[in-house]
Amino acid sequence: MKKQKICIIGGSLTGLVTAVCLSKLDCDIDLITGESYRNSKSGRTIAVSENNFHFLNKLNISKLLKKKIWTCSSMKLYTESEKEKIAEIFELNKENENVNIFYMLKNLMIIKFLRNKVKKIKSISIKKNKHVKAIYNSGLLKCVKFNNNTSKYNLVIICSGYNSSLVRNLFIGQKIENSYKEFAVSAILDHKSLKNNISRQIFLDNSIFAMLPISKNKTSIVWSMKNHMKKKSINFLKKKIKFYAENFLENIKFSSAIEKRDLNLLIRNKYFLERTLLFGDALHLMHPFVGQSFNMTLRDLKCLEKILEEKINLGLDIGSRDVLLEFSNETKPRNFSFSIGSDLLKSALSFKKARNGIFKILNNNDLAKDFVFNVADKGFRF
Ligand SMILES: Cc1cc2nc3c(=O)[nH]c(=O)nc-3n(C[C@H](O)[C@H](O)[C@H](O)COP(=O)(O)OP(=O)(O)OC[C@H]3O[C@@H](n4cnc5c(N)ncnc54)[C@H](O)[C@@H]3O)c2cc1C
Repeated sequence: MKKQKICIIGGSLTGLVTAVCLSKLDCDIDLITGESYRNSKSGRTIAVSENNFHFLNKLNISKLLKKKIWTCSSMKLYTESEKEKIAEIFELNKENENVNIFYMLKNLMIIKFLRNKVKKIKSISIKKNKHVKAIYNSGLLKCVKFNNNTSKYNLVIICSGYNSSLVRNLFIGQKIENSYKEFAVSAILDHKSLKNNISRQIFLDNSIFAMLPISKNKTSIVWSMKNHMKKKSINFLKKKIKFYAENFLENIKFSSAIEKRDLNLLIRNKYFLERTLLFGDALHLMHPFVGQSFNMTLRDLKCLEKILEEKINLGLDIGSRDVLLEFSNETKPRNFSFSIGSDLLKSALSFKKARNGIFKILNNNDLAKDFVFNVADKGFRF
C-alpha cells in the first residue's frame, strides 16, 4: 500500500517537534517551514515539565540535549508585601526527592537541534522558507498550495502559531479568545555564579515577575505586565528588572536584548476541519505565568502519535473524520479544563488577599503541593 502523506505547516517549535515525532510512523511528511526558518537572535527560554522532557529525550533529538538543559528542583513564590517589598509565600522543593520540577531550554537551542534532526530524517521533506497560501479539497485528499507548488495529503497539521492568517481564514468562530491586555518582557541576565536551581515568581500588584535559572550564571526573566507599561523606555524596564532580580542575584548584566510579546488566551472548540488539524499555539494559548502552552502541545502530540500509529497499523486513513474526532475527544476536555483553570487562577491571583490566602493554604498542605506538581507535570488526566 502507498504510504500516507502528512503536511506539517510551520517550522517553529511545534511544527519541528511534530515532524520529528510523527516521522517514527510509516508515512511521508512534508514540513513547510514559513519564514522563521532563518536564524534569529531571540533570547527566549521555555520551561518543560519532567514528563515532557522525558518524551522529548526519547525522540533522540540530539545527544547534546541532556547537557544543554538546566534543571530546577525548587520553586518559590513571592508576593508584594508593601510597596516594592516582597515576601515568600510558597515553596515547592523536590531536591531531596531527586525530582526536577522543570527543565529549562533556550528556544533557539531546541529549534537548532530539531532542525538538524529533521534534516537527517529521510521520510521528512523540508520545504524551507515556503509559505502556505491556501488549503482546499481535492478529490478525497487535501491540497496545500505553497509558493508555486501544490501537493496532496491525507492529513494536514497546521502549526502556524497564534497570529496566523491561514488559520483565521479557515477556522471561523467557535473559540474563546481574549487579550489579557498585557505583554511579556523577556531577557537573559548574566550574574555571579551560584547553585541556581530555584525558579522564582514574584506576584507584584500589577505584574508577575518570573526568574528562571538556565545555568549557574544565567537566569531568564519573563515579566508580564499591563499594556500601559508599553510606554516605558527600555532603560526603565532594565532598571526595574535589576531592582527585583537583585533580591537574589549579584553582579547583574543583561546578556540579551529585551523582547516584548502581547499576551492572549485562546481556547478552541473546533480542533479540526476535513483532513486538517490545528496544533500548538494555533490550537491553544495560555498566559506564560503557568509556562504551559508548549507543554500542552507536547501532551497533545503524545496522544496524536498513539492514535495515528494505531490507524496506520490497521491500514486506516489517518485523515478521516473519525481519527481527528478521536484526537479531539481525547484532548479537548483536558485542554479546556487546564486553560480555563489557569485563566481563573490568574484572575484570582491578581487580588493580593486572594493570592496570599490561596498560597497560604497550598503551602501548608503537602497533598495539595503534590497535586499542583502533578497537574503541571502531566496535565489533567481523565
Ligand atoms: C514570554 C513567553 C514565555 C513562554 N514560556 C513558556 C514555558 O515556559 N513553557 C511552555 O510550555 N510554553 C511557554 N510559552 C509558549 C511557547 O513559547 C509557545 O507555545 C511555542 O513557542 C509555540 O510555538 P509554535 O510553533 O506553536 O508557534 P510559533 O512560534 O508562532 O511558530 C509558528 C510558525 O509557523 C510559521 N507560519 C505561519 N504561517 C505560515 C504559513 N502560512 N505557511 C508556513 N508557515 C507558516 C511561522 O513562520 C512560524 O515559524 C511561552 C510564551 C511566551 C510568549
